[in-house]
Amino acid sequence: MSHPLASIVVPAGHGKAVRLRAGQSVQVINTHGTQVVDCWAWNAYDLNEYMCMEATRVYTQHLNPVVGDSFVTSERHPILTVVEDTSPGVHDTFMAACDRRRYELLGCSHYHRNCTDNLVEGMLELGVTPPRRSLASFNIFMNIRVQPDNIHLDTLPTVTRPGDFITLRAEMDCFVAFSACPQDIVSIQGEGDNTPKDAELRILDDAYPHIPLRGPWVPAHLAARSG
Ligand SMILES: [Zn+2]
Repeated sequence: MSHPLASIVVPAGHGKAVRLRAGQSVQVINTHGTQVVDCWAWNAYDLNEYMCMEATRVYTQHLNPVVGDSFVTSERHPILTVVEDTSPGVHDTFMAACDRRRYELLGCSHYHRNCTDNLVEGMLELGVTPPRRSLASFNIFMNIRVQPDNIHLDTLPTVTRPGDFITLRAEMDCFVAFSACPQDIVSIQGEGDNTPKDAELRILDDAYPHIPLRGPWVPAHLAARSG
């Protein structure tokens, strides 16, 4: 693999953000194999344009991304592409990031660290204030299962292993924020140990690895017409 340009620890329960040039990638490493990492992204030149889970599911026709899938923005432009994934591929695009209110609803009477505040923390370290609070994050390594009745969801511990990683390539100059989710009440971290732990980010230089950009999904009869 290419030599990382930078390595950044995301401390357990905290947030970090990075700025990527188009073509650079960020590798998100599940150091201990038990940590869910929430992720958001914005166009570096227009922070009102943000990575959008609902538009991404239309674009890919997938519940969750696989290698080769691009996340698109609120303007439906590709912003991040999954170019590598050594984990079992279990991630989530459905669940809102945790926030202060979520922990109040879970019975916390005191402030609980949360992903939403962590994204602000990470961006402020770069001197950037994210303008729009997007509840929908890409929840890397999070295990949410659609049940056979196609109605119910099940929230389960992550199934990743120590050192598993996913690599996201920037398709535009962008800011990407990450939170090592502080959730320690609902069992989403490792099986039998719900303790939030560190994760690691590595910034990789251009075109690693080379996976062509896929266009949007279109219905088969339209795809046939365009040849
Ligand atoms: Zn969280």
